[in-house]
Amino acid sequence: MVPDSNTSTDASAHLHFIRQIITEDIAGGKHSTIATRFPPEPNGYLHIGHAKSICLNFGLALEFNGKCNLRMDDTNPAKEDLEYVNSIKEDIRWLGFDWGTGYYQASDYFAQMHDCAMQLIKQGLAYVCHLSAEQIHDFRGTPSTPSTPSPWRERSANENLVEFAKMRAGEYGEGHAVLRAKIDLASPNMHMRDPVLYRIRKTTHHNTGDTWCIYPMYDFAHPLEDAFEKITHSICTLEFEVHRPFYDWLIHNLADVLPAQPRQIEFARLNLTYTLMSKRKLLELVQEGHVTGWDDPRMPTICGFRRRGYTPTAIRRFCEIIGVTKFNSLTDVALLEHAIRDDLNKTSPRAMAVLAPMRLVIENYPEDQVEWLDAANNPEDPTAGTRKVPFSREILIEQNDFMEDAPKNFFRLAPGREVRLRWAYFITCTGFERDSTGKITTLRCTYDPATRGGDAPDGRKVKGTIHWVSAAHAIPAKVRLYDRLFTKENPNDESDDKDWREHLNPDSLKTITGYLEPELAKLTPGARVQFERLGYFVADAEDSQPGAPVFNRTVTLKDSWIKGNTAAK
Ligand code: ATP
Ligand code: MG
Repeated sequence: MVPDSNTSTDASAHLHFIRQIITEDIAGGKHSTIATRFPPEPNGYLHIGHAKSICLNFGLALEFNGKCNLRMDDTNPAKEDLEYVNSIKEDIRWLGFDWGTGYYQASDYFAQMHDCAMQLIKQGLAYVCHLSAEQIHDFRGTPSTPSTPSPWRERSANENLVEFAKMRAGEYGEGHAVLRAKIDLASPNMHMRDPVLYRIRKTTHHNTGDTWCIYPMYDFAHPLEDAFEKITHSICTLEFEVHRPFYDWLIHNLADVLPAQPRQIEFARLNLTYTLMSKRKLLELVQEGHVTGWDDPRMPTICGFRRRGYTPTAIRRFCEIIGVTKFNSLTDVALLEHAIRDDLNKTSPRAMAVLAPMRLVIENYPEDQVEWLDAANNPEDPTAGTRKVPFSREILIEQNDFMEDAPKNFFRLAPGREVRLRWAYFITCTGFERDSTGKITTLRCTYDPATRGGDAPDGRKVKGTIHWVSAAHAIPAKVRLYDRLFTKENPNDESDDKDWREHLNPDSLKTITGYLEPELAKLTPGARVQFERLGYFVADAEDSQPGAPVFNRTVTLKDSWIKGNTAAK
């Protein structure tokens, strides 16, 4: 159990500021219902940071009986891909959310956005400018000195309409004309100094083909998309705070033609220790072969986590615990792992597997006898039932469950000591054998037939219980032991002069052969299980097959988050 103080963030999560704003908007009659949206750019797979935004947007809509749209922010023709669009939909559904009929693509609004641009031109609030990107940059000035006006800033509305039509008709090459808003060249906010609204890109778009050769900039497109969809609360991450004055300027100046006046609200993005979150760097990890793909179980992507065995419930719970604030911070990845363990502990069936085997012979057990013993599937869940595990004269145990010269507080197996074999019998170690190199190869034991099931009728106690598998019945399986992908707490650290690649953990994946009790070989791909005393594992969704299992370690049993947090008190 987690001490209360560790989950106290729940209370602040419950009262977080966005929930408060919405509650007030509804109580004050500003809105009767709410509409939010999740607007990914389909240029990569979703990661755990996106999950925070998804849980927030879809979660608020559910809570306030409103709606949450899924909108592909595909305004940039160069970078997007259908593979990403499909993966985004799959991942959101897997997380447990549903956009209903609210699926949109920013590119569906290109005509409406174009109308809005014309409207601004007619109002004298936008102009076509022929400065190059470098010139626009050089003309910008500094926060304390105003920009130099573009020579085309004072064109008439009519002339701008003609020029904009030429841009649209493809009469200019890329970089030879842009449409800019006409706002304030002296504004301390650089985003208000005549930002670019449209640029020319002679690139085929995956949705609109070659219909357009002018494409709206994100800052222009996004507020309009929100307004077209009658979004009430447009929730985004903190770096967009400085863009909000332009968002409001645009919505305000087009109020007559827009169906709604959405409000932008910013919150802090999720950063996790030992984790890279930028889509660009995740793509590099994939392209450079540091991982096997976007769904490599070491990736912080939703599909990577799915393959790793994480559950949607645990990810949603994690997003709830971290809450929503206005301050950027670095969240301990141990908290995510804690949420995973907490859920898997309740839901995962238990089974026995030996990952570093040592042969053990029970000398007083009949040679040809096999007993099928009852084992509880989940001691945390009485409804989970039992299964049969085979027991025989020769079993495998973990090497580190035996010590030749054991200290007093070592409660596992040692010469002359007695332990319980889980679900089976008490055994006592009577000796061992070594090979020519001195390595111990076989343990010799006797068992007490009266202790069948794991209890002694004479009331005698043993301190240790170890897991095991019957050697003749064990199923060998490929087992992948995953660890963190980076050795550095913040591989994203901008002040670090080393490249993030230098912080890759060379031991992030170890593949071994494990020996499983027979039931485990029947698991369907994607099924989760606890290997007793070892950790939570999942039958790999891609590579595992009934009869030829491949298991991924989801997470170890040791909860460093609880330990760290209780030690601090
Ligand atoms: P990246 O910087 O990783 O490329 P992005 O912000 O460009 O991410 P988008 O596809 O534009 O990726 O993101 C879709 C939504 O998810 C946005 O509303 C964005 O604010 C949100 N989001 C992205 N990363 C995080 C994060 N780490 N924490 C919370 N929300 C995030
Ligand atoms: Mg983005």
